[in-house]
Amino acid sequence: MAPQADLIWLIAAILLGPFVGSFLGLLSLRLPQDLPVVWSRSACPACGRTLAPLDLVPILSHLWLRGQCRSCGATIPRRYLALELACPALALWAGLVHPSAAGFLGAVLAWQLLLLALLDAEHFWLPRLLTVPLIVSGLAVAAAQGLLVEHALGAALGFAGFSLLALAYRRLRGHEGLGGGDAYLVAGGGAWCGALALPSILLIAAVSGLTFVLIQRWRGKPVGGALPLPFGVFLAAGIWVTWLYGPLGLS
Ligand SMILES: [Zn+2]
Repeated sequence: MAPQADLIWLIAAILLGPFVGSFLGLLSLRLPQDLPVVWSRSACPACGRTLAPLDLVPILSHLWLRGQCRSCGATIPRRYLALELACPALALWAGLVHPSAAGFLGAVLAWQLLLLALLDAEHFWLPRLLTVPLIVSGLAVAAAQGLLVEHALGAALGFAGFSLLALAYRRLRGHEGLGGGDAYLVAGGGAWCGALALPSILLIAAVSGLTFVLIQRWRGKPVGGALPLPFGVFLAAGIWVTWLYGPLGLS
């Protein structure tokens, strides 16, 4: 593909990023509360004032309004600005590693993983409402590239393998250690990266999760054992790094 077309994909993903980030912020707050989700924040949650288009420009409206509602001064959650900056940054990362339409698809993967990681970190929750679309979008991309069989196998093996692992863990430890949502997330990783990438995804997730636990222990925080670990965060990282740079040992 011509470099000019590559640039258009990159610019499109970076321009779309802040709007996606704003929407992810909304989803991360409303989904756990079972509140209705519409495309944009329509009113200030504190005073109910209908938001004008100017209040909804990603990034700029935060600077303009200094992170507060124009009417009542209520603080706009920081996560909006953070996500509006993180989403184009992830798109840039994907586009630099994979210039071309693949980079744009990478941004779509990254945005989905970001929301899942956030929900798991805050609520230990990986809703199927989000993991199933992750699997479907991964398979659709694979189908377009003529790789459907290997990637469907990845999704199936990932799901079955991780479910068995969770079962074994429950038997051994006598309590739930790996959430049911994790198996769907691993299946999403298999759908996006293929069956051969599963060991790489799991290894990166396990090593980064273990590192996190060790750092928390070193800082004197009680972790491990009966305390839950948002493993989905580390799985998301494993899927992202494996998609970007290829499976460990195979790239
Ligand atoms: Zn307000």
